[in-house]
Amino acid sequence: TEACLSEIEGAGALNAFVHRTPELALEQAKAADARIAAGDAPAMCGLPLGIKDLFCTRGVASQAASHILNGFRPEYESTVTQNLWDAGAVMLGKLNMDEFAMGSSNETSVYGNAVNPWKVDDRALTPGGSSGGSAAAVAADLCLAATGTDTGGSIRQPAAFTGIVGLKPTYGRCSRWGVVAFASSLDQAGPMTKTVQDAAIMLGAMAGHDPKDSTSAELPVPDFEAALSGDIRGKTIGIPREYRMEGMPAEIEKLWHQGAEMLRDAGAKIVDISLPHTKYALPAYYVIAPAEASSNLARYDGVRYGHRAKLGQGDGIVEMYEKTRAEGFGPEVQRRVMIGTYVLSAGFYDAYYNRARKVRALIKRDFDEVFAAGVDAILTPATPSAAFGLGEMQDADPVQMYLNDVFTVTVNLAGLPGISVPAGLDGQGLPLGLQLIGRPWEEGDLLNTAQVLE
Ligand code: GLN
Repeated sequence: TEACLSEIEGAGALNAFVHRTPELALEQAKAADARIAAGDAPAMCGLPLGIKDLFCTRGVASQAASHILNGFRPEYESTVTQNLWDAGAVMLGKLNMDEFAMGSSNETSVYGNAVNPWKVDDRALTPGGSSGGSAAAVAADLCLAATGTDTGGSIRQPAAFTGIVGLKPTYGRCSRWGVVAFASSLDQAGPMTKTVQDAAIMLGAMAGHDPKDSTSAELPVPDFEAALSGDIRGKTIGIPREYRMEGMPAEIEKLWHQGAEMLRDAGAKIVDISLPHTKYALPAYYVIAPAEASSNLARYDGVRYGHRAKLGQGDGIVEMYEKTRAEGFGPEVQRRVMIGTYVLSAGFYDAYYNRARKVRALIKRDFDEVFAAGVDAILTPATPSAAFGLGEMQDADPVQMYLNDVFTVTVNLAGLPGISVPAGLDGQGLPLGLQLIGRPWEEGDLLNTAQVLE
């Protein structure tokens, strides 16, 4: 813990930690020492972690990287972080992210962007988003692991951009209670770690049924680490043809192929599969996610939390809402609220929101059919490119940024577990990730297969 705290001290330029909690960390570390001395050391005992700013942590600033939650210190602890503390983990502080987890570059954060510890010459790169601070912190050894959340790729894309492991569990595996809501039917917390084994251990500590989240599954948490047998003989791995996008960099194509070869060498059977509705996933996601976000973010009204605008003479409650929300939300969040409100409005609900829901069902059915036909996991690239330069995408058409999520959003729409594993380096020496998508509730199997790619 002390070593991490001093690393963090020296790594201000990465802008990964946005709130530090050194006193709390040392206190928790002492308690962990005592547990170890007493011979009662749970799975995460004494392990120093960073926590994404989206998780509510009792008495510690939890702002979802938004101005509107300025000064918000929750009275309660999210279930996932509570589970981690119960398992003996130590909190070093809160990690940078895109505002309300909306973004793919960490550039929508009120704290300014986090920086990728990987560099090409002097070009500063994004660590990805929205869990960019988590990815940068783990990759730069500021903490042993971090929590992330993934609504459309926010664990897997930053993991790929920084050369670490990121797992989005099956929807319902981890409680969403106390995690600031973005799109409730897609959001899922997960571990961001240096190795697949670490991800298995940390997921075991984070997961579990929670009566406070009605969508958390009433299933026992298996021993994910015990599933890491290294044996994938007889498994069937599908390669979906629709993920072979036009214009995909040759290096990514090559790593994808190499990944398939590694799995084949380990005894898996590689088969071509089709997920025909893939091309509708991004448009469906960018209707459903903003729709849910616009509803979830209605609670930030200047009354219950954080920031309230200064009001002028004669301003009433409507002006208070308007001014507070105009000042408190950044441009990307405002864009999502506007899109979401539009697609949910009476005249357009059927044309957009309902249609997107139907598309979502078709996407899920594609996966169901492939799994029913005997496929155990699906191998794809995690991202369509390596980390891009900070500022390079920001002023472009926002849709350019959304295209980053092309390989990851399908997994959230279908509620499946997905993991990004470092797959190698591109020609510039930057990390690239491969994604494995698994059957629901079979994270153990998925992690076991992922470990072969490490
Ligand atoms: N980049 C996607 C978005 O902006 C995904 C974000 C996420 O997974 N939280 O919506």
